[in-house]
Amino acid sequence: MSASTTRIVSSARARAGETVHGRDPGPGSRGRRLLPSVRRLGARIFGRGEAQVTSPEAAETGRCASAATFSVAMTSEIDHALAAHLLREDGQEDLTFALYQPSTGMTRATAILVDLMHPQDGERQVHGNASFSGDYFLRAAGLAADRDLGLAFLHSHPGGKGWQGMSRDDRAAESGHAGATQLITGLPLIGLTLAGRDQTYSARRWHRPVAGSGRTASSRTAWVDQPATTVRVVGEQIKVSYNDSLVPVPAPTRRSLRTVQSWGRRAHDDLVRLRIGVIGGGSVAQLVAESLVRTGFIHVVILDFDLVEEHNLDRLLHATEADVGQPKASVLVDRLRSHTVTPEAVVHGFDDSVVEPEGRLRALDCDVLFSCVDRPWPRFALNVAAYAHLIPVVDGGVAVDVRAGCDQSGSNPSGGDAPDAPAPFRLIGAEWRAHLVGPNRRCMECLGQYDPGEVGMERAGLLDDPAYIASLPADHHLRRGENVFAFSMACAAAEVLELLRAVLGPSKIFDVGATLTHWTTATTERDVEGCRPGCPFPTQLQSRGDAAAVDVTGPHPAAAAARAAARRTEPT
Ligand SMILES: [Zn+2]
Ligand SMILES: [Zn+2]
Repeated sequence: MSASTTRIVSSARARAGETVHGRDPGPGSRGRRLLPSVRRLGARIFGRGEAQVTSPEAAETGRCASAATFSVAMTSEIDHALAAHLLREDGQEDLTFALYQPSTGMTRATAILVDLMHPQDGERQVHGNASFSGDYFLRAAGLAADRDLGLAFLHSHPGGKGWQGMSRDDRAAESGHAGATQLITGLPLIGLTLAGRDQTYSARRWHRPVAGSGRTASSRTAWVDQPATTVRVVGEQIKVSYNDSLVPVPAPTRRSLRTVQSWGRRAHDDLVRLRIGVIGGGSVAQLVAESLVRTGFIHVVILDFDLVEEHNLDRLLHATEADVGQPKASVLVDRLRSHTVTPEAVVHGFDDSVVEPEGRLRALDCDVLFSCVDRPWPRFALNVAAYAHLIPVVDGGVAVDVRAGCDQSGSNPSGGDAPDAPAPFRLIGAEWRAHLVGPNRRCMECLGQYDPGEVGMERAGLLDDPAYIASLPADHHLRRGENVFAFSMACAAAEVLELLRAVLGPSKIFDVGATLTHWTTATTERDVEGCRPGCPFPTQLQSRGDAAAVDVTGPHPAAAAARAAARRTEPT
């Protein structure tokens, strides 16, 4: 941006300042409707949430929780629209304002871009560089305030490549609007730059630091930018721009040689820096997690509250008899740590459910989640994360088709005629599913991966009530648990390949729909349908972030009981 931007900025700031300080802006002024927004200040601060500690002083000064990292997310539609506007055929810089919705995790605050506010006639000038009028800023900030959203400012560096620094003019223009944006919207100004040569985004949020301990910022304290760690674009493809100084490229190692040779260094560096959450620690989860650390992923988080039981040992890659009674997550993390192929790799495990407040916040810190759960409530919570928070979820599952009755020969294949023999059954087949859900893809509810009615039943504790489960028909899906290690392997492989396809795009193919593979016939079906008409996930809930009007968390007595049991068996 050019210096003329800065001049326009100062006049805009003065105008916004007059309004917010209560001088009558005159009848009909657009400043008048900004006043209610200004009154909200102090009640709102980006980064709020159970895990974020923000003092009222910090809120007043617009300071953000210092522990939090910052990130930006958008759908591929927003990305395409931005590139079409910002990357001009004549090679000149351009700019636009956009609106964002906050999404808050345990350690990461994300701004989800939701709407672009392209300049109207006369609101910006393009002259090699680009500059904008104060009216444009006030129109965009006013709309953000009206819609309870934050304000983002974007401009392009047509000749730029990679994560961009800011010129003195860039800095002056953004910092000059940071105060007015905070006052008008109650949320920090977000700045983004799009590099024209490789379409990398870079981003920062503006805040005013507290000068010293116990002191609030004076009105003269300068606004400073906190650089984002990543900017992620989510659609058929998962595409992330990384701030290399905050999320460094892993050092090359011989252990990853063959993997890197398969898709190249650059693709590898972008792939393995994705922050992955594995929700569940059972048979498929352990195979998925093993595959992730061997592939070189640097950040893997496992969430499971369950304990290893003897009847799990036929399917848990990383559990032995000695682990029975131990938490699955810690047993798994222990083994995974010795299998990582990069010195930078960090594997963490937590004994929360994703439907408990802490577990939910940990999930919202991730870029991609694996749904290795078989219950409706956590699947529902993950479906919300995929659309409302733009965190794609890889889901799947195994179903073994076993029916009561004798086989064709008339004999009981399951154990003869002894009085204690198991009931007669026959094996019909087995199948496994794998799909990635999120924007532009069919959601878990429409794929039939959970029954919304059963979410309420699980929240009420019915699915953990042995008497209720026993009352269901023997072939009810909630009573079924048949599984075999090889079926889990096939399912886990299909799930990991789903992620690799969406990120790496072999032959530029990122999305093949949801897959269902039949073991008996070795055939794979693909479901390329979108969500059913009226499905709320890709419509009302998409990109709603913290404002999504669904509460996915609640008390989880089974998780609490498992944690208590784990504490009892802890060696003293
Ligand atoms: Zn610039
Ligand atoms: Zn749907």
